[in-house]
Amino acid sequence: MASEFDLIARYFTRTAPAGLLGVGDDCALFPVPPGEQVATSTDLLLEGRHFFPDVDPKALGHKALAVNLSDLAAMGARPIGCVLGLALPRLDEPWLAAFAEGFHALAAAHGCPLIGGDTTRSAHDLAISVTVFGAVPPGQALRRDGAEAGDDIWVSGELGAADVAYRLLDGQYPADASLLAATRGALEWPQPQVALGLALRGIATAAIDLSDGLLQDLGHILAASRLGACLRFADLPAAASVAGLADAPLRRALLGGGDVYQLCFTAPVARREAVAAAAQAAGARVTRVGQTQADAGLSVLDPRGQPMAALPAGFDHFPAA
Ligand code: ADP
Ligand code: MG
Repeated sequence: MASEFDLIARYFTRTAPAGLLGVGDDCALFPVPPGEQVATSTDLLLEGRHFFPDVDPKALGHKALAVNLSDLAAMGARPIGCVLGLALPRLDEPWLAAFAEGFHALAAAHGCPLIGGDTTRSAHDLAISVTVFGAVPPGQALRRDGAEAGDDIWVSGELGAADVAYRLLDGQYPADASLLAATRGALEWPQPQVALGLALRGIATAAIDLSDGLLQDLGHILAASRLGACLRFADLPAAASVAGLADAPLRRALLGGGDVYQLCFTAPVARREAVAAAAQAAGARVTRVGQTQADAGLSVLDPRGQPMAALPAGFDHFPAA
């Protein structure tokens, strides 16, 4: 029977990069680039709430870190390292090996080594907590409160697929194997836009990552920046896999669908070329989807230029009764 320490050694201990003290002591130690600030964020993932119990463990390891790297991306912070808390209901080594493989692969791809954590047996469902650390020069972080009236609103990547995959797996939509095959990767293997976040320093006025749905997440930028906005539905970058949906599910997927982990950001109209160059340098697709305005409120124009009614709500863990 493997002990807690065997498990940690086997699955979570990797050679730490030079200059950094990783797994094995009471604390990890890492240097911060001179003059920069630490950006940190934590996310808790619970079985049954944030992922299905039978999800591929390698995908889960990837996603547990991806959602945290996405927060660094949204701030324009460069990853330094991460820590992992695991509450395990059972000891399943093949599961742990696959989880660790997915986790470490994404960590390596983003230069964000696992440098510590905590592992415990749980009498309850599986719980995963990841905390990331990044670095950003003072004043250069992409915050939510910096948007100005008249800024363009941009979205990276494509929208809609993760929502459709989630609803198919959840049984809300009738089974459709080919639609699931076309959308599942977006839900289970989100790609955090770290390079884009870094490239947008000094260009974007505000940014957020899309975890709870475009309307809700953009709403956070607007609230923090004390602005309103108008989006053009026809300009939203819908994933090809969802283009065949009927009106209502398509609206729900594009405007309310969560788990996207792309960036929504604002930038001055005068910086359009700079945004395009930053996206190209980062290998990211970006699409202009609307404009901020001084007047409060968020409207979405349909293809005829009319405001859409009954906009979908995003995800809320504690919806008002
Ligand atoms: P402590 O008792 O001081 O909290 P632990 O025995 O919990 O230490 O952990 C031993 C070492 O293993 C520590 O360096 C800790 O950061 C690391 N560790 C424990 N669990 C994990 C994990 N899931 N991922 C990465 N590192 C871990
Ligand atoms: Mg411990």
